[in-house]
Amino acid sequence: MSSSDPMVIVGGGQCGARAAHALRENGWDGAITLLGDEGRLPYERPPLSKSLLLGQKTAAQCAIYDEAFYREQRIELRVDVPAAAIDCAQRKVVLASGEAISYHRLLIATGAEPRPFDVPGSTLPGVHALRAVPDAHAIAGELMQGRRIAVIGAGFIGLEIAAAAVTLGCEVTVLEAAPRALMRAVPEAVAACLIDCHRQRGVEVRFGIQVACLTGQAGVTGVQLADGSIVPCDAVVVGVGASPRIALAQAAGLDIDNGIAVDGKLRTSDRHIYAAGDVCSFPHPHTGQRIRLECWKNAEDQARAAARNMLGHLDIYSAVPWFWSDQYDMTIQIAGIPAYGTTTVVRETGVASRIFFMLDAGGTLVSASGVGRAGEIARDVRIAQSLIEQRACIDPALLADRDTKLRSLLVAEAQ
Ligand SMILES: Cc1cc2nc3c(=O)[nH]c(=O)nc-3n(C[C@H](O)[C@H](O)[C@H](O)COP(=O)(O)OP(=O)(O)OC[C@H]3O[C@@H](n4cnc5c(N)ncnc54)[C@H](O)[C@@H]3O)c2cc1C
Repeated sequence: MSSSDPMVIVGGGQCGARAAHALRENGWDGAITLLGDEGRLPYERPPLSKSLLLGQKTAAQCAIYDEAFYREQRIELRVDVPAAAIDCAQRKVVLASGEAISYHRLLIATGAEPRPFDVPGSTLPGVHALRAVPDAHAIAGELMQGRRIAVIGAGFIGLEIAAAAVTLGCEVTVLEAAPRALMRAVPEAVAACLIDCHRQRGVEVRFGIQVACLTGQAGVTGVQLADGSIVPCDAVVVGVGASPRIALAQAAGLDIDNGIAVDGKLRTSDRHIYAAGDVCSFPHPHTGQRIRLECWKNAEDQARAAARNMLGHLDIYSAVPWFWSDQYDMTIQIAGIPAYGTTTVVRETGVASRIFFMLDAGGTLVSASGVGRAGEIARDVRIAQSLIEQRACIDPALLADRDTKLRSLLVAEAQ
């Protein structure tokens, strides 16, 4: 495929950077322009709520590629001017500076942003959300010995921040509106396991909590609950979910459905424009439903798939979702989508490590959620991922029996 116009990628994050590289790997010899708005090299976000808060990694170490890489690959990386509009008819991206860039194919990988938390006091100094490097630096600055940190939301990011904060000697309270943590993300037993672990380390976790407002004058000093009580604090971190950054796509008239709606080949409603990563929703062949994922592996895999399809391949994106979280010395790894399961089967894989399998009503394996030491769960979750891919129907007794090697089920299924 050849064109004098470049491949343009809007969104200089995980997915955008990987897609730019994948275009080269798959033989595109023309120009590639990668547009970002964060003023820094594209980077990985998972360390922001983990090793960066703990001082084990710097922001520079989170970069996906160094500057020389973009030069060598002839990827024009521009991270200082956001894309402001897409002119689909003219096939141009218009930057906030007014400059217009023509594209041969366009990939939108604008990611997601923290969902706003609109209660009185939410703009007080000391109230933070976490998506980008400056947020992580601001939160890291709050996590000092003896400080009282209120975390609103017991999702993965909230719980990871709670883990880092208590490890650094803070007094941590997690306030969650739902009756339990990670409502749709993991089976109840996995959430219970995690919350036990937090409580053992001294984190106070409270469920069914409605926040009325944040109190304070010059800075936040408390979280006032609907019953009038106040949780005193020195800083608040809000982790109530994220929304896809769809403004550009919406203004350009692209179809939107819980993110930019793409087809199985990651094409938007405009055949020259693709979308991938946190920003898009796509039909998943396993579930038959349109889903949107916010996870590292999906951003990686969709970047490669979108790049290939921009070059004329017709790959249907069908990867089984895979997500991980690290809290304390524990890792949580999830393959598949637990919410589609109805029956839970537990396998002990180590002294403090377990995998919770979910089967749907027909007995098909739909997810595997491992909690514990990475070395005791990672391999089995990976094999389970293949079993899910094969849509294996497995006897629950075999899944529960740690002496039955998961791999043997895979082989039997494949024959
Ligand atoms: C704190 C944190 C911890 C995480 N931990 C984990 C984890 O442990 N495990 C896991 O699986 N996943 C984790 N994730 C999720 C994972 O990081 C995301 O799924 C991944 O970053 C998505 O990549 P993306 O490229 O789609 O979006 P992003 O990485 O958000 O990149 C999008 C980029 O586009 C830019 N952009 C937006 N609009 C414009 C515009 N108009 N012009 C130019 N640029 C624009 C944004 O500023 C951003 O740089 C975590 C996320 C966060 C925030």
